[in-house]
Amino acid sequence: FLAPRTALVTGSTSGIGLAIACGLGSAGAKVAINGLGMPEQIEAALQAVRDAGAAEVRHFGADLRDPEQIEAMIMAIEAWSPLDILVNNAGIQHAVPLAEMPTQKWNDILAINLSAAFHTMRVAMPGMAARGYGRVVNIASVHGLVASVNKAPYVASKFGIVGLSKVAALEYAASGSRDSGGITVNCICPGWVETALIEPQIEARRNGGSRDDGVRALVAEKQPSQRMSLPEDIASLTLWLCRREAHNVTGASFPIDGGWTAQ
Ligand code: NAD
Repeated sequence: FLAPRTALVTGSTSGIGLAIACGLGSAGAKVAINGLGMPEQIEAALQAVRDAGAAEVRHFGADLRDPEQIEAMIMAIEAWSPLDILVNNAGIQHAVPLAEMPTQKWNDILAINLSAAFHTMRVAMPGMAARGYGRVVNIASVHGLVASVNKAPYVASKFGIVGLSKVAALEYAASGSRDSGGITVNCICPGWVETALIEPQIEARRNGGSRDDGVRALVAEKQPSQRMSLPEDIASLTLWLCRREAHNVTGASFPIDGGWTAQ
């Protein structure tokens, strides 16, 4: 249902971003992937999206800490094919108490998790409005809705992207039509998802036991379902938000958190 749409997923060389890129590919989109990694990892990600059924797939290597590289990436994608779907997914984490948080970590987390989304949206959304269809899906977190200790920059960045998304949703709410699909901006707010990002936090809770013991301890703290999500679970909602019939779903934030934020 996404042929002949073109999508960019930032941070899609691994984890949730790669699952989303594969999901968009399986629906027939042309997919631009982005993210860091060794050449083998990038090639493996390209192959996975191709195997999923993408009409075409290319890697764009912008470092999202640099606004000039972000702008150049969007221009290069637009020259390849007009951008219809933008998934701001790239994100990093560093969990230590506020007073011990290195300033450089604050700067990098805010740049990648929040400012990068501002820059991609700023450049890409006018074209979407002109064409009448556009989807921005921002991968925030439960930490865009509630806080936890030791995550000052991460929580600040995720609350920030929830706010940024609402402003953009309002500014573009009346663009396009029901027939063209309109322009929507939404956040997905996952709780724990099985990816490399949370391995240090699993490791910190193993307490001499196995990795499974670490996972159990982690979900026991806050996620009432007692189970983590899979990256594919996040991809599935992203895909639905891209459908034409989701034209009136905008400015919303969707927890996928096993009940975390219901408490
Ligand atoms: P991940 O570490 O597997 O993937 C992160 C991606 O971002 C990678 O492709 C990486 O190369 C890319 N990236 C990092 N720095 C970059 C930079 N400077 N420039 C370009 N790309 C860069 O992590 P993930 O768990 O898949 O996280 C994806 C998103 O989901 C993040 O925004 C994260 O905050 C969010 N999230 C994850 C969880 C979870 O439990 N895993 C929960 C809630 C929200």
